[in-house]
Parts: sequence; C-alpha cells; structure tokens
Amino acid sequence: MDQYPIEPPGTVDDQLKALGITLQPCPSWCTRNHFGAEPTPLYVDDGFFHYGPTTTISDNAAGLSDDGQDADLQLELTSWVPTLAAAPGPTHVCLSDGGDSVYYFTPDRARQLAAELTRLADQAEDRSQA
Ligand SMILES: [Zn+2]
Repeated sequence: MDQYPIEPPGTVDDQLKALGITLQPCPSWCTRNHFGAEPTPLYVDDGFFHYGPTTTISDNAAGLSDDGQDADLQLELTSWVPTLAAAPGPTHVCLSDGGDSVYYFTPDRARQLAAELTRLADQAEDRSQA
C-alpha cells in the first residue's frame, strides 16, 4: 500500500509568516513557549495561552490519613488568546493540580480567595493554640 509522505509543519515562525500573521506582544509576565516543543500545524483561528512562571505549593493530605497523598498545586498567571492574530485576553490567576482540575480566577477573585485562605489559616492557628 502506498503511503503519501506527510509534510512536517514548518517552524512556528515559518508558519506564522506563511499565514501573514504577526503575534501580538506577550504580556510582561509571559515566560513560556506558546505552541509546544514539537511543531504542529497552525491555523488562523487557533487560540493559545500566555503563561507566567509556575509556583508549586504542596498540600498536607498525606498527614490526614493512612492512604492520603500530598498534591502539588500549581499557581500561575495566564491569558487566553482566542485567535493567532488577537491581543491577549484578560489575565487570570490559574490554579491547578497538574491534571484535569484547573481553576481560573480574575484578579479580584484571586484576592478574595487569598483573603479567605488567610482568614481560615489565622482561625486554624488560634484554635490550635487554645
Ligand atoms: Zn506569551
């Protein structure tokens, strides 16, 4: 059976040039490759994320029960760009477990979450000292 050769996609820069697209500038906090290490075909309507550096915080679930396991929670800034030529959308704080659980917070909601975590942590320490 004959197989047609599959053309590997060009580099991201080559593909963008062929599409006549210049990406809008990244937000100042963006530090990542937008399209992965392996070139894949790009299309005008493709969207992508800007991502900032990741901070990892482990929880303490392992100490709660015999079969508990600590989870690594990852926090980072992100912004969705709906098409290759579009400007970055609003910036969100992204919280994930490295798997399917991903949560996006506007800056106001992130501050609300941080304030509630601080309030609960303060309450927990007051209780442990009682
Ligand atoms: Zn970027």
